[in-house]
Amino acid sequence: MTYDVAVIPGDGIGPEVVDHAMALVEEAAAAHDVSFETTRYDWGSERYLAEGAMMPADALDRLRGYDAIFLGAVGHPDVPDHVTLHGLRLEITKGFKQHVCKRPSYLFEGVTSPLREYAGGDIDFVVYRQNTEGEYADLGGREYGGFDNEVAVQSALFTREGTETIVRAAFEAATERAGKLTNITKSNAQAHGMVFWDDIVTEVGEEYPSVEVERLLVDAASMDFVRRPDEFDVIVASNLFGDILTDLGAGIVGSLGLAPSSNIDPTRIHPSMFEPVHGSAFDITGKGIANPIGTVLSWKLLWEHLGEEALARALHDAVAAQLADPGAPRTPDIGGDSGTEAVVDDLRLRIE
Ligand code: ATP
Ligand code: MG
Repeated sequence: MTYDVAVIPGDGIGPEVVDHAMALVEEAAAAHDVSFETTRYDWGSERYLAEGAMMPADALDRLRGYDAIFLGAVGHPDVPDHVTLHGLRLEITKGFKQHVCKRPSYLFEGVTSPLREYAGGDIDFVVYRQNTEGEYADLGGREYGGFDNEVAVQSALFTREGTETIVRAAFEAATERAGKLTNITKSNAQAHGMVFWDDIVTEVGEEYPSVEVERLLVDAASMDFVRRPDEFDVIVASNLFGDILTDLGAGIVGSLGLAPSSNIDPTRIHPSMFEPVHGSAFDITGKGIANPIGTVLSWKLLWEHLGEEALARALHDAVAAQLADPGAPRTPDIGGDSGTEAVVDDLRLRIE
């Protein structure tokens, strides 16, 4: 079979990392007898500035039939963040019920981490972040008239479907990794949504008796991310907490430029979407120095999701070998002076 992947390079460094990484991904796929075709969609902020919308009205219908979607980045200095976010990323994640945001944090040999000396073991954990609701449900409003004091309300929404889906995905991952699950909430201060969440962790956990469950409040967890990052394995958290903890995770493993992400519909009714964690990074756009590794590792997650384990492993191993080699090219964010293209060219030589 031939996989069909929709590619949305997006804004800023998005097209730079996506286009450069493509040659590597194509060669690796060919070497593993995996056949795939890509269709490129030039959606994003340039389209918004020209036509008033990030994507066409029938975007979801056009994307529906693909096996997967690959996104570079969205964000633009001349377009408000809520427009870029809601007009493209959230439209896709919500429209396709991609309730699960899976973000691994893995410290490669040869990468400088502020915590390498501190950690007692390998840093290798994965955060399962609720991706479609919670604190980012966009519920609330502002009131000016009827009060002598201005008020704003921002509510969080926790549905059974959205919560149970992320919790179940995390338990599945913990089972697969034969590891521990850390549930991170703030149930002492948020007695409705977060206690509902905790109850669902207890309930779903009964189906996974072999998984050890650890419960942490997000404040304590933040401290432990610094103090004992090597002791985490699978982490499950709400949209807001997962957002914060995954940037912390990217910092712990060396650079935002190395971090991959995936937005998954576990039912597989809709395509899932893969993207590097970083944004459009206009401060380095056009300079040719964006780190492509977050993109390459996001393709690794894509192939894993589609069941192409050997191809996924080949991309991972090429990255691991390059980062462990002190003579290999690397981009400035991880201490080198090479460009995007040189890093990709070197990775191509390392594909088995
Ligand atoms: P957005 O608004 O789309 O989130 P941003 O301007 O906030 O974009 P981020 O992409 O979140 O930028 O990046 C934050 C910082 O990390 C920037 O200084 C950027 O240069 C750096 N950075 C991000 N991605 C990379 C990368 N792939 N390679 C090198 N540096 C990166
Ligand atoms: Mg940002």
